[in-house]
Amino acid sequence: MTRALRGIGVSPGVSCAPAFIVRMDFPEVPDRTVRPDQVDAEVARLREAVGYVIEHLGELGQRVLQRAGPEESRIFDAQIEMAKDPDFLASVETLIRNNYLSAETAYEFKALEYRNLFSGAAMLREKIADLNAIQLRMLNRLMGGVGHELWSIPHDEQVIVVAHELSPGLTVQLDREHVVGLISEEGTRTAHAAILAHSLGIPAVMGAAGALAAIPPGMMVLLDGQAGTIVLDPTRDELEEAKTQISRRHRLELQLESVVDSPAVTPGGRPIVLMGNVDLPEEIETAVRMGAQGVGLLRTEFLLTGRTALPTENEQAEYFRRVATAFHGYPVVIRSYDLGGDKFPVGFKAPLEANPFLGWRSIRVCLDEPAVFRPQVRAVLRAAADRDIQLMLPLVTLVEEVELTRAIVEEEAQALRREGIRAAESLPVGVMIETPAAALIADRLAEVSAFFSIGTNDLTQYTLAVDRGNARLADRFTPHHPSIVRQLHQVLQVGREAGIPVSVCGEMASEPLSAVLLLGLGYDRLSVSPPALPLVKWVVRTVPEPAAARAAESALAAASAEEVTESIRSVVGEYVDIRLLDPHSALPGRRRVATLPPGNTAS
Ligand code: PEP
Ligand code: MG
Repeated sequence: MTRALRGIGVSPGVSCAPAFIVRMDFPEVPDRTVRPDQVDAEVARLREAVGYVIEHLGELGQRVLQRAGPEESRIFDAQIEMAKDPDFLASVETLIRNNYLSAETAYEFKALEYRNLFSGAAMLREKIADLNAIQLRMLNRLMGGVGHELWSIPHDEQVIVVAHELSPGLTVQLDREHVVGLISEEGTRTAHAAILAHSLGIPAVMGAAGALAAIPPGMMVLLDGQAGTIVLDPTRDELEEAKTQISRRHRLELQLESVVDSPAVTPGGRPIVLMGNVDLPEEIETAVRMGAQGVGLLRTEFLLTGRTALPTENEQAEYFRRVATAFHGYPVVIRSYDLGGDKFPVGFKAPLEANPFLGWRSIRVCLDEPAVFRPQVRAVLRAAADRDIQLMLPLVTLVEEVELTRAIVEEEAQALRREGIRAAESLPVGVMIETPAAALIADRLAEVSAFFSIGTNDLTQYTLAVDRGNARLADRFTPHHPSIVRQLHQVLQVGREAGIPVSVCGEMASEPLSAVLLLGLGYDRLSVSPPALPLVKWVVRTVPEPAAARAAESALAAASAEEVTESIRSVVGEYVDIRLLDPHSALPGRRRVATLPPGNTAS
């Protein structure tokens, strides 16, 4: 019998609770035809179901709006738009009228056609997830099914939800009090559902292949959302070990609380700038509370989640001002839209591509689509009128991309001046080093860039040719590979020679052991996931610089990622309990750090 499963830890925290299985299987739709005189009644049935589904989605959206906020509830607006799609519904009605198909048969046929049109393009995964959610609701309505909503989760129990795939719509419905963990067979760290689980503070493991077959309903499961491990029916010893880990973490957290108000300086007195990465508006407060010295990476794609139209210039300027006000006195680095991969807004005319992560994305989209990019540049300029705001470009591979952007910034600054709109005269434009191309021409990029920030997530993906979200390759995906360590070293040297600041904003900076490596390499500016800020600061204040430098020196001479990791561990182990910092032990979650049900702890 399977005793353990492995996936990708996407939202930290340790939980243990009985499994609650969510099956999203579609009901079997028989090929049913109707008599010509029943056609009008079928069309009426279809329209009634559409009305019902739209109303239901509206109610869900309202509920989520109250519980989680506008960003999360937008998913339902997008689904309502899709459910109402007049072209789609007209084609279903035509099938009913011309081919005498029943409403559900016709609906399923057309949904299949649409899905085939979308499939193959990773960037449309979200659309497919929306289509699935609507189709399931429609078929349940038309065929009298019970639905798949999570209302049936018993409200006096805590459960871990297990599903094949967690759609963002399903994730935002989850009640944090009762759902203490999430497991899905599909999904990656960059999936919207993963990001939502993280922001809701629910420990989650995705990409856990075979979870549905291995976990029967009600089975006790022990989940570690950082390590990506799932233990089925844990033994007393395993529960005991989890409990020890949780109390170890708890003690550390108490220590960390006192660190929040202390300065980020090494034992030798070298100040380190620790900024926060902000993906969702809800994170602003956490980042401020955790002592972030500004925002080193403000992701802007989430302004688009589930929306059918791009946010306006005013809306963006307002958001950027809000962030900069919250971090008054510190810089805010706004990253231009990193669209592409699975990050296209609903309704955006994204092309079908064989390799979307090597395709039309990020700065490439922005430079090709002035209607997308220019309002964003204007919004940044407007917010920067009296605030410390900088613009950062993702996925740069060409010097020309920076030059073209700088020209756009200049043109828009002039245009705003002509229009009499208050805005900054110019902007510092910096570059994310997240492709080997950018790292190799860093000296030339430095001539046109105000700063560099290293995106180690994509740099690792593109250097190692390992998809950052592929569960099967998770063991190979590591920024400790010597090729990444060398690039980190070289880019910092280039930045120093050119006199521009170089920081790291990839997830690597949020992992305490990796942060030690970065400090040892000479980095003094890190942008970190807000919940990880106290732990990284604690490491900064604890590990002496000469020790970190020793680890970095060995890492630069290493032949494998294992050697790099080992060199950091052996140095750091001299100063702190390494078990607290191991990437495979849980980092503090946002709200829920660890949960063990009282009846299931081995005490
Ligand atoms: C990165 O690639 O390291 C990064 C910070 O950007 P994102 O994770 O948003 O691609
Ligand atoms: Mg990136």
